[in-house]
Amino acid sequence: MLRDDQLERYSRQIILPEVGADGQERLLGARVLIVGLGGLGSAAAIYLAAAGVGTLGLIDDGSVELSNLQRQIIHGTGDVGRPKPRSAADRIAAVNPEITIETHLEKFTPENGLSIVGSYDIAVDGSDNYPTRYAVSDAASMANKPLVHASALAFEGHVTIFPAGGRPCYRCLYPEPPPPGTVPTCQEAGIIGSLAGTLGAIQATEAVKLILSVGEPLVCRLWTYDSRTAIVRILEYQPNPACPRCGDEPTITRPASRTAR
Ligand SMILES: [Zn+2]
Repeated sequence: MLRDDQLERYSRQIILPEVGADGQERLLGARVLIVGLGGLGSAAAIYLAAAGVGTLGLIDDGSVELSNLQRQIIHGTGDVGRPKPRSAADRIAAVNPEITIETHLEKFTPENGLSIVGSYDIAVDGSDNYPTRYAVSDAASMANKPLVHASALAFEGHVTIFPAGGRPCYRCLYPEPPPPGTVPTCQEAGIIGSLAGTLGAIQATEAVKLILSVGEPLVCRLWTYDSRTAIVRILEYQPNPACPRCGDEPTITRPASRTAR
């Protein structure tokens, strides 16, 4: 049973027929892991907390830098130098003190990933580098947990969901990481801050849809957005039978394997 203050806090979504009190209780009972508390993770975490997703796991091994604040809106000027999960936890507590926050002040790796993802219902990947994206996807696929993936750079970004069941996965879309130096980082190429927020907010919406079983989640569909033209496209994709993680003869089948990198 929802308390009176919960009925009031969440009233604007509880009145939606697709949510209702039952849906709100599902949100409050849900456990979502957010990998990376940068531009994507900042927006995703705040919206999931505000919606009453009851437990949020926050993993990031970085500390807040002044150059982060242009887009990483969960952190404030006074947080510069603090570990990002701690800074984010304080902001989340200010937005919604009833959220349980589990902070992981470490890097998400092929070694620790499966045990971390395994204790959550959904993973939201807001990481900013290929090794972490592969590690998150491999762990979510092995744990049979849905993964809400996004990336953003300069003026463009995309969002998709790799479903529970582990197939297809990130490696189906991107079998190999690009050669080092061929794809610039945010630090090198720059990024429009609000673009990261747009994509992080969509990740939060997709996670809420998964929790509530509402609508059509972005499974096997890559939602792409070019902010320069404001053109949105949705590209459909299929599992890759030759995928080394989720294909017919997988070679990446356990954590802490060197091949998982
Ligand atoms: Zn795959």
